[in-house]
Amino acid sequence: MIKKGDELLLKAITPKGEKLLAGLSSLADASADEQKYFDDTIAAGRSFKTRTTCVDAKVIAKKLEDIFLKTEFWEKVSDACLSCGVCTFVCPTCYCFDICDETLFSHGVRRRVWDACTFTDFTLEASGHNPRTKVYQRLRQKICHKYSFHIRKYGVISCVGCGRCTRNCPVNIDIFSIVDQALKE
Ligand code: SF4
Ligand code: SF4
Repeated sequence: MIKKGDELLLKAITPKGEKLLAGLSSLADASADEQKYFDDTIAAGRSFKTRTTCVDAKVIAKKLEDIFLKTEFWEKVSDACLSCGVCTFVCPTCYCFDICDETLFSHGVRRRVWDACTFTDFTLEASGHNPRTKVYQRLRQKICHKYSFHIRKYGVISCVGCGRCTRNCPVNIDIFSIVDQALKE
């Protein structure tokens, strides 16, 4: 599905999809221009600039442990971070969640909802104490979880290198660049 102005262009890519579209009488056939627009948009999306990095998991895990308390490094790389949480919400390997109660007139439901370690209240405790009040502490947690703690615990980096966090960050914070900079520290 691709948006073109106020229109949506649909293309079936499975027999099930073809059957679904064939049953929708309100759809019009695409013009040659629209088909071209569709194909060009898909091609542009696939050719989006990507990078391949090759990081030794044990080396980066140890390096991040070594510079964990190097506050000036973490402040520098997180300087622009807005704590918006976008990078975690688009990440295919982020899985942190919160439990929220929705109540209305004495009835309610308990829900599990996505959460983000980059949010200001992610580690806020019931006592009011928050061990991660600083932006750099939260971004450091995100980087170190993926490139250090996860390796120590499970033996693999918990970042698949998709670049979604970098592409969607409103202030262009780039996880690969942070990893590169950390390795040079
Ligand atoms: S590049 Fe890594 S951290 Fe960023 S969204 Fe993809 S898996 Fe998540
Ligand atoms: S998307 Fe960018 S600005 Fe938002 S929390 Fe992540 S690193 Fe910070």
